[in-house]
Amino acid sequence: MKLKYLLNSILFLTIQLHNIHIASEPLSQQYSWAIVGAGVAGITALAVLLDSGIEPSTIAWIDPEFNIGRMGKYYRNIPGNVQTQRLLLYLHECPYFKDINSAYKDALYTYKLEEYQPLYVIVDPLIDFTTYLCNKVVPIKDTITSLEYHNNYWSLQSNHGTIKAQKVILAIGAYPKKLNYDIPEIPLDDALDKDILATYVSTDDCIAVFGGMHSAILILKYLSECCSVKQIINFYIDPYFYDAPGLEGDTAWWAKNVLEKNPPSNLTRVLSTVENRERFLPLCNKVIYAIGYEQNPIIVNGTTNLLFDENTGIIDHNLYGIGIAFPPTGIVNGQKIAKNGLITYLTYAKRLVPQWIAQDKYKEPIASFGINKDQELPWI
Ligand SMILES: Cc1cc2nc3c(=O)[nH]c(=O)nc-3n(C[C@H](O)[C@H](O)[C@H](O)COP(=O)(O)OP(=O)(O)OC[C@H]3O[C@@H](n4cnc5c(N)ncnc54)[C@H](O)[C@@H]3O)c2cc1C
Repeated sequence: MKLKYLLNSILFLTIQLHNIHIASEPLSQQYSWAIVGAGVAGITALAVLLDSGIEPSTIAWIDPEFNIGRMGKYYRNIPGNVQTQRLLLYLHECPYFKDINSAYKDALYTYKLEEYQPLYVIVDPLIDFTTYLCNKVVPIKDTITSLEYHNNYWSLQSNHGTIKAQKVILAIGAYPKKLNYDIPEIPLDDALDKDILATYVSTDDCIAVFGGMHSAILILKYLSECCSVKQIINFYIDPYFYDAPGLEGDTAWWAKNVLEKNPPSNLTRVLSTVENRERFLPLCNKVIYAIGYEQNPIIVNGTTNLLFDENTGIIDHNLYGIGIAFPPTGIVNGQKIAKNGLITYLTYAKRLVPQWIAQDKYKEPIASFGINKDQELPWI
């Protein structure tokens, strides 16, 4: 009996310390707001909501890991494409973050303003902020499978139960797109870390790399600098990679000064046409797809094909989208491209969250402005 009491006390204390609800039993709470996703976009939306005066205890924040999404899980070691001064701007523009103590945040001030750093320099402070925010709002470690709107509430369903919220922000992120060539694949997330990439390749390899934006260029750089492979064949669609969104820092320098002026002798770049694929792909024994990202699936009122109005952020009545899953777009070289990154999400949240708070009437999403998940979203 005493042992059971002791174990229960330890369990209670552990949950209090971490203050994260592990959804192992049916959930039945009702909230004013739910934010699904704790990546860069989710934490930014949450900070802006709190800044706007929303009572923290009325916000449920749901994520299976609370580890800054893909950036925290896979991209810590890759070179960021914004200078330190932009990272500091992000922190300053978010008053909620400014006041949170974090040694990692303080470390950011020691870097030169114009330098580009690996992404862990921003991931680590964001992890500290996540811990802090999890003690303010109601964090729920879980994955939402579907949402349904009934009687002025969204019901958010997981395998553990349902929670209800009046308004929901989806910050659910995206996963790398693939093509279906019958060649062993090196996953994009692994290829973006040069030490992990090196474990996949050997000197006899001929590697196909699909894509022409930041991620693809970074992988070409890694393959030619650190992995002595026999041959690299890059299939691209748009040759104007210098203007590629997000192509900055060392990677941009390498594109302009090495790839353009003095390309590695084992690297061939070709337009991704049927003829070129038929000619060059049979030579390749491994492939990397760096061709963009696709919205993580979630079912809303019975469908996964979500319309989204990027001007208002509205997906449905009291349902809003932010982040790489629901990005604003811009025009580069005449092409519509998705805009992503900390500052973009913050600017977007600061513009739209006050409207979402004020909005109680249903506004139809404007389909012609919207994107859906099958649409091509070029990526950095
Ligand atoms: C090479 C490269 C360089 C980059 N450089 C930069 C840079 O310098 N600066 C910058 O700002 N950005 C950079 N980025 C972009 C950055 O990584 C993305 O913008 C960012 O990861 C997207 O954040 P997100 O929150 O929208 O999505 P994600 O990071 O994917 O996070 C989504 C979160 O939602 C959770 N989730 C998903 N579905 C559910 C569900 N159903 N229920 C509960 N939780 C769910 C996931 O577990 C995850 O935690 C770079 C990206 C690449 C590839």
